[in-house]
This record gives sequence, C-alpha cells and structure tokens, in this order.
Amino acid sequence: MKRQRVAVLGATGSIGSSALDVIARHPQQLSASVLAAGRNVDALVALCVQHRPAHAVIADPALYGALCEALRAAGLSTHAHAGDDALCALVAGDACDSVVAAIVGAAGLDSTLAAARAGKRLLLANKESLVMAGDLVMAAARQAGACILPIDSEHNALFQCLPDGRVSAGVERLVLTASGGPFRGRDRASLASITPAQAVAHPKWSMGPKISVDSATLMNKGLEVIEAHHLFGLGNDRIGVVVHPQSLVHALVEYTDGSTLAQLGLPDMRTALAVGFAWPARIPSGVPPLDLIAHGRLDFEEPDMDTFACLRLARQALDAGGSAPTVLNAANEVAVSAFLQGRIAFLSIPAIVESALAALPPAEIASLEAAREADAQARHHATQALPRHARA
Ligand code: NAD
Ligand code: MG
Repeated sequence: MKRQRVAVLGATGSIGSSALDVIARHPQQLSASVLAAGRNVDALVALCVQHRPAHAVIADPALYGALCEALRAAGLSTHAHAGDDALCALVAGDACDSVVAAIVGAAGLDSTLAAARAGKRLLLANKESLVMAGDLVMAAARQAGACILPIDSEHNALFQCLPDGRVSAGVERLVLTASGGPFRGRDRASLASITPAQAVAHPKWSMGPKISVDSATLMNKGLEVIEAHHLFGLGNDRIGVVVHPQSLVHALVEYTDGSTLAQLGLPDMRTALAVGFAWPARIPSGVPPLDLIAHGRLDFEEPDMDTFACLRLARQALDAGGSAPTVLNAANEVAVSAFLQGRIAFLSIPAIVESALAALPPAEIASLEAAREADAQARHHATQALPRHARA
C-alpha cells in the first residue's frame, strides 16, 4: 500500500475520530495531511497537536483568527484556512490523496463533490450528499475516475459482499440491516414525549447527535436506502430493510442462485474505515474479532413503518425522484435540529418532512444549483412549519 495523505473532513466528529484512530495505527502507510472541522477551534487544534497535519480548516470564517492564534500558541507550523472554498481547494489540490468525507448534513456536499471531481479516493460517510445530489456526485466520480469507498456500515458491508464492490448480473437484492434504534417495539403514542437525551442514546452505535436522532426515527435507514440506490444502482424494490437488534450483521447480498452473502463484525466504524483506506488490501483497524459464541444469537424482524413513518417517507421520495429526496433531507435536517434544541416534539419530525414533500412537487435536479434551490425551498418550508409544531 502506497503512503496515503488523508484529508479528514469532520475531524472533530465521531467518524473523524475513528478515522484518525485508524490512521495513527499505520504511520508508515497513512498520514493525516488536512484536518477540517465546523466551529470547535480548541478540539481541532488538539487534533493538530496529535496528528501534525500540513493544513487545518475551520468552516466558520469568523474563527480564522482564533485558529491562527491557537496553532501558533501550540507551536505548530500547520497552515490555517477558513471557509468552504478553502476546504474545497485543499481537497481538490495536491495536499491529499484521499478524503474522508465526514461532515454532517448538506454542509458536506461541496467538499464531497470537490473530492469526486478531483478523482480522489473518496471515503464517503456524508450520506446526505448522496441523498441530496446523488446523480451529480456519482457522475462526477465516474468522469474523474474517483473511487468511492462507502463509509456507512451497511454500504461498506454491501461493498465487501459484491465482487469488485459493484452490482453485476446475478445479484437479486441488497438488504440493509437496521438496529431499530432506541425505541424499537414502541407504539406511536409512547413516542410523543421522547426527549433529545433519550433519542440520542443509541443502544449499539456511538455516533454524532444528528445521525443518532435519524436512527431513532428510522430516517437514517430511509436515507441509507437512497444512498444504496446511488452507490449500487438498484431500485427501491430491490433494496430491502430488516431490523436486526444486535447490529452484528451489517448488510446482505442475495444472489439469483439462492446464495446470500453477509458481512458481520462488531458495531465499530473503524472496520469500514480500514476497508476504505486499504481496499483491496486489509489492515488492522483496532476492532477485535467477532466472538459469535459470546453473542449467542442473531435476531431479525420486519421494520414497523407505521410507527416510524420516516422510512416510508424516504422510500416514497426515492420513488417520486427528482428533487424529492433533496427535499426530504433538507426538511429532516431542519426538523432534527429543532428537536435537538427542544423546540419541537419527536413526532413532529416525520410530520414536518411529510408536509414539505407534499408542498414541494419534485423538480428535476440536473445541476448543483437545482439541488441547492430545492434544498433552500425545503429548508424555508420546514422552518415556516416550526412554530405550528412548537412545544408548549
Ligand atoms: P458528528 O456530529 O459527530 O461530527 C460532525 C463533524 O462535522 C464535526 O467534525 C463538525 O465539526 C463537522 N461540521 C459540522 N458542520 C460543519 C460545517 N458546516 N462545515 C464543516 N464541518 C462541519 O457526526 P458523525 O456521527 O461523525 O457523522 C458524520 C457523517 O457521517 C454524517 O453524514 C453521518 O450520517 C455519517 N455517518 C456516521 C456514522 C457514525 O457512526 N457516526 C455512521 C455512518 C455514517
Ligand atoms: Mg449506517
């Protein structure tokens, strides 16, 4: 494996920290050359002290001075940058060979696209960019010869279960597993009073707050169905979802001859990241092997799409096509953020997403501008709806 200089976008987050853990285990083969974060200068500089990147980027331009000052105070020669344009230029330029796209939400779209257009090895965790503008991201990667390595446990598992990581003749269906989140088995009425703290307490995975809420509503699985559609090119009807509470089987590929291949492992994103860095080789990730005897059993059940309407809404948006998935994603981001701030109830999340989808008919997404426009309209619609859903 040639030494890879890696840009870690979203370095201060959950995926970012897992990526840096794997990188630090392989100093001969991997180095963190660019670290980027949203607003937390102290956390970013602490990572710079540890990983000595050539470049550090803070998203908020107002924090540029604070970043320069903190890097200097720490005695580092790391170059400071601020803003999305600077980030995209670094991602596309000579500062890195591969990019871990782990910014949360639509904010990650530009840098994901920049990496795809520059033909970089793209370890793609930012599923929202595929939901928002999947055709554009995939076309850019194809044109530039960028290799996309999915960093979502389910999609990474599918990638591992498919020859060359692609769907070819003989593949019947892809199946994503879902843990079911913290409220599996509950009825709708009991979800009315869920608090943000309860929603982010995921039973199996330790993740950032937004994706944790998405897991609790099952929107995460809906976004993942759309993500799988773009990554592997199959339609809604050939992408199944089964609930698997132990989160040890991450996904399955059904072949036409009756064979089903599954990928298993502990719920720890370092495995997917190690695959992303090294594929087709394998490198240690720090994740211990799976002890099947200790775990004892694997259970599977049907998802409850009536109680958890977000999965149904996501599938509807995929069928509707055009801007519908973009609208779904943007309205969900607004609603989840308001829920995390304690402004709306848990069940208002699907209600706001459903109302945005109903109000904004699907338009064609032929350009980045069209995707941004659909995203902005849905954010506006969802923001307007918040007062009607305000918690007493
Ligand atoms: P997180 O909240 O822990 O981290 C988010 C990171 O993005 C932080 O470093 C933050 O500083 C940065 N960020 C936020 N807004 C930004 C902006 N406007 N510009 C630049 N940087 C910004 O989130 P996470 O759990 O690590 O998830 C990151 C992405 O990976 C999400 O798209 C999520 O869906 C996906 N993902 C995460 C997991 C997981 O296990 N955590 C699994 C699969 C996929
Ligand atoms: Mg996942």
